[in-house]
Formats: sequence, C-alpha cells, structure tokens
Amino acid sequence: MRSRVSDRLKGLAPSATLAVDAKAKALKAAGEPVIGYGAGEPDFPTPLHIVEAAAAACFDPRNHKYTPTAGLPELREAIVAKTKRDSGLEVSASQVLVTNGGKHAIATTFMTVLNPGDEVLIPAPYWTTYPEAVYLAGGVPVPVMMSDANGFRVTVAELEAHRTEKTKLLVFVSPSNPTGAVVAPEEVAAIGRWAAEHDIWVMCDEIYEHLTYGSTKHVSMPVVAPELGDRWIVVNGVAKTYAMTGWRVGWMISAPDVMEAAVNYQSQTTSNISNISQRAALAALSGDLSAVAEMRSAFDRRRLKMVSMLSAIDGVTCATPEGAFYCFPNVSGLLGRSLGGRVSTSSAELAEYLLESIKVAVVPGEAFGTPGFFRLSYALGDDDLVEGLERFAKFVAQG
Ligand code: PMP
Repeated sequence: MRSRVSDRLKGLAPSATLAVDAKAKALKAAGEPVIGYGAGEPDFPTPLHIVEAAAAACFDPRNHKYTPTAGLPELREAIVAKTKRDSGLEVSASQVLVTNGGKHAIATTFMTVLNPGDEVLIPAPYWTTYPEAVYLAGGVPVPVMMSDANGFRVTVAELEAHRTEKTKLLVFVSPSNPTGAVVAPEEVAAIGRWAAEHDIWVMCDEIYEHLTYGSTKHVSMPVVAPELGDRWIVVNGVAKTYAMTGWRVGWMISAPDVMEAAVNYQSQTTSNISNISQRAALAALSGDLSAVAEMRSAFDRRRLKMVSMLSAIDGVTCATPEGAFYCFPNVSGLLGRSLGGRVSTSSAELAEYLLESIKVAVVPGEAFGTPGFFRLSYALGDDDLVEGLERFAKFVAQG
C-alpha cells in the first residue's frame, strides 16, 4: 500500500524542546502549578519602540504587498551595519537573506550547500534541530561527542577524529545551546584554520552572540580565522537579543553564489517573510543594545543562582555556563535511585516523572544527544526559578 506520509518525514524526530515547552504550557493552562525550564526564549516582552514600529507598519500599505524575497532592502542594509558593528565582519547587502527565524536560516543553509551523503560534523550536546535539518536536506549528521571535562567546548582533536573524505560542513555554535559554553577566541581561530586546511565549510550560529557573562566575549569565526576564505555561512536573528522569538526574523549571510541559490530556494518556498516582522526587526537593529544589556544582567543573576542551587543537590553537578541562558547539569547521580517512589533509569524518564510529580519541566539530555543531563533555561522569573529548584531539591532530599 502506498504510504500517506512521506518516508522522509516519517524519519524526522519532533522538536523535543518545543514538545516539553508545549506540554508545560498546556498543563499550566489547565491550572497546574507548572514551572517550566524548557523554553528557549527570554521571558521579557519585546521593547516598546520595536512593537510601535510594527504597529505603524501595519498601517502602511507598502507592507501589505509582496516585497523582495531576500528581504526589505533597508533591513538587509541594517544587517550589514549590525554585522560590522558587532562582529567586525564586512559583508554586502547582496550576501544577506532574511529568513523566518534563525531556524529557517539553518534549514536553508543545509538545503543550499549539502549534496546527498555529505557529512556534517555536529558537536554534541547539540541543539536538537541541527541533525534533523541536515537529514531533511539529504546530508548525514555526524555527532562529535565533546568532553564534559572540557566544559563541552569542542576541540580540533575531537573534530579531526570524525573527519572523513565526505565531511562537507561543520556546525559551530558559541555561546552554545544547550550547554551555555563559549569557545575561547584562540580555539575558534584554531577550529577555523583546521576547517580551512581540510576544505570544510563552517556554519556559524551566532544567535546568542550578545548573551555572554563576565569577561567572556563572542567572536565571529570568519573574522578570527580569515583562512576560511568564503567557505562560511553565518546565521543569526533577533529572537534572543531583542526578546523577539515570536516575530520570526533571522538571516543567513554567505558568499554571493551560495546566497543566489539560497534566495532562489526561498523564492520557491516561502517568498519574503512578513513585512511587519521585518519592520520590527529593522527598528530593533537600528537601535542600540540597551535592551539586551538589561536582560543580560537579569540572566547573569539567575545563572549564578541556578548553578548554586543545582550544585547543592546531592547527585547533581553543574558547570557554570558562560553564555546563552541555559544550565546543563549532569544528573546521572540521580539515576537508579529511588526518588519520589520511583526509580528512573534515564534522564528522559526522570524528566517525565519530575513534570508529573512536582510539576517541574526540564528538557532531558537525550534531546541533545547526551543522556544523563538536563537542560534548564534560566530565562524565567527569579521567583519561579527558585521555587522550581526548591521543589526539585526537596524531591531529591526526600528520596
Ligand atoms: N540557534 C540556536 C542555537 C537556538 O537555540 C535557536 C532557538 N532556540 C535558534 C538558532 C533559532 O532561533 P529562532 O528560529 O527563534 O530565530
């Protein structure tokens, strides 16, 4: 019998992070006192001047029509200016494609540069979307397990151990989701030089560029590793920096031939993204970075609180993240133990039981290719953050 759903999509895993978030939100809507650490989004509203720009855009008939597939010319120029300001990377507007969020830029990147069978190195723990998007584009995701002892910062040696003749692309993300790890500038440069030496392209996911703490700073690989030449793709977006996850604006920057193919692909799939969202993104990028500075200081406070509360739990160890807004504790010390009347043998099982029993939602490490860990976002209110972790600590202490 002919199958109703394509084999390709039957092989696709659902987004585990979105699933946890949806489940927690549904339970909350049903009146359950759920505390959700699942979401990958700032808990702040979008700054008012951005919302006002979008509201005004609704009344401008120019925005009621199709606009260029690659994005509003003003927005592409603003992305050029922002990229120079924040990374020191000089590009032209013709190298920019405005996409429906960073996720769409990532999917478009893989669709644009991969041939069937091309291997893509994905350091693990990885953001859950990367391997699935590679698979959809016909590529072969190759997880590269990073060392917990090295704070989950990928090294040249780990990458080299997985390189084959078929390796086309490396996925590089720093600050990282799910670990919050930030790779030091010298190491970013070394990884870039290694990729250049082996003719490997690099997709640099820079979505958390402004969320680093203390003296840690993000650097852009094409800037610190000029040896890469033009074999890189930068993906980014407004979601995390401006608390704009729902507006769905991201972008992709690469060499002119790659961009021509990517724009062509978008012209046959989505056309331009919503003009209203593009106008909002234009207002965001044209302004300063004060909104993210404010969020950063709240995240920094919550980060330290979360690390100290998690570390105080018997059976949990937690490295201090330097970027993004996630902690990635090792919870393997809780497995095989009787907790709340049940013995969980995997982090997935334990995460499910925590939601059921104490109404605390976390994403299990299985979603990121590393069982034995949890990902907890600290992009939630201070009181909720403490309350949920107190529940978790009590749950463990009571055995
Ligand atoms: N890259 C990483 C590493 C992310 O964590 C996310 C959001 N969770 C994205 C890209 C995409 O963000 P968006 O599609 O909302 O712009």
